[in-house]
Amino acid sequence: MSVPAKTPPQKTSPKTFHVKSFGCQMNVYDGERMAELMAAEGMVATDDAHTADLVVLNTCHIREKATEKVYSDIGRVRKVAGAEGRTPMIAVAGCVAQAEGEEIVRRAKVDVVVGPQAYHNLPKLVADAVSGTAALDTDMPLASKFAALPARRKVAPGAFLTVQEGCDKFCTYCVVPYTRGAEISRPFAAIVDEAKALVDAGAREITLLGQNVNAWTDGDGRGLHDLIRALDRIHGLARIRYTTSHPNDMAQGLIDAHRDVESLMPFLHLPVQAGSDRVLRAMNRQHTRDGYLRLLDRIRAARPDIALSGDFIVGFPGETEAEFAETLSLVDAVGYAQAYSFKYSPRPGTPAATLGEQIAAEVMDERLQRLQAALNRDQAAFNAASVGRECSVLIERRGKRDGQWLGKSPWLQSVHVVGPHAIGDVLDVTLTQAGPLSLTGEVRALAAA
Ligand code: SF4
Repeated sequence: MSVPAKTPPQKTSPKTFHVKSFGCQMNVYDGERMAELMAAEGMVATDDAHTADLVVLNTCHIREKATEKVYSDIGRVRKVAGAEGRTPMIAVAGCVAQAEGEEIVRRAKVDVVVGPQAYHNLPKLVADAVSGTAALDTDMPLASKFAALPARRKVAPGAFLTVQEGCDKFCTYCVVPYTRGAEISRPFAAIVDEAKALVDAGAREITLLGQNVNAWTDGDGRGLHDLIRALDRIHGLARIRYTTSHPNDMAQGLIDAHRDVESLMPFLHLPVQAGSDRVLRAMNRQHTRDGYLRLLDRIRAARPDIALSGDFIVGFPGETEAEFAETLSLVDAVGYAQAYSFKYSPRPGTPAATLGEQIAAEVMDERLQRLQAALNRDQAAFNAASVGRECSVLIERRGKRDGQWLGKSPWLQSVHVVGPHAIGDVLDVTLTQAGPLSLTGEVRALAAA
């Protein structure tokens, strides 16, 4: 759809581009696909936004002031370019584009606004903008997006692969069902093909992505565990991970896959958000504290060394000190290897934003500090308990010191090793030292392919 131009007509076609992604891994994946799209048009990627003819801001709508942040990012790009006498094209993509599309076109001098389900049209939208028409596309024709994307190019050893998008859960604080739409699963064969292409392009580990990844189904009764077992048979794929899951979609088959499938890493990110059943109900999480804990018991029975990760929100409207204490006691009961924690922030258009009893900022700050102290304590304890373990480490990049490399353990811990290694190597390592956020390992051998 074209809207009356706010930008001067007739621009020159951009020759270089830069994609800046904010927020979740799915945005990172979308950013990589948009970069492949522009490269397939013959454009060249630049390392930073300030030298590019086209800047794509791939936005996140999760946090407070997300929309204002987009305007300040646009302003920053323009200011730096203006000082150098340049007028780069600006495209706004991602969840803020989806939620605020027309407002962004009307309010800011941007050339393209494109939603997460329509970015396969980016080349055409850029061409429209070159002819002086500010281009806006926030349609949700999910089916066509992936089929229209170019082949995968050189990827990092740890690659992302979106298998599911959207969410039908409607947690009362969350914008995702509105910005990403209903739950949709990509076809089985298309995922297996893309996984093979990623391995051919250099991936040794693939993380399957979805807002509710464990809700993936092919409609013929196959679930995420069937997909994982199929990917496990791809030669050269050493490791499989998946994120983000919902407790209500943890099928027994997926728990069994953690027991049986060697390439499925013993790491599970399973958000819970709060420890109080009243707060969980007000969040519309559709599960209870006890149900969540019993589920973790079943998962740990299947894979005793599994590392658990969670998401938490403190200060949800009406949360009492006693209810917050239930969150702390749940953390004590689980012992997370890692976790993300945030202060509640009212998102426009979500039911919780209109709730009374919004918690004061200083109370939220104080609760977040206590929660993070507990989570950091448990992460350090998990790392300390890992010393002496033998495991594989996938090398992802160079470390800060000469001959030092940084990689990930099966439990998604950062591990430093030294030696004549390379990015993409999977090494057999003994973990020798633990810090609060990373470990040191001694290499025993290159792992068998
Ligand atoms: S399950 Fe996750 S993505 Fe879906 S509404 Fe809840 S928080 Fe948002």
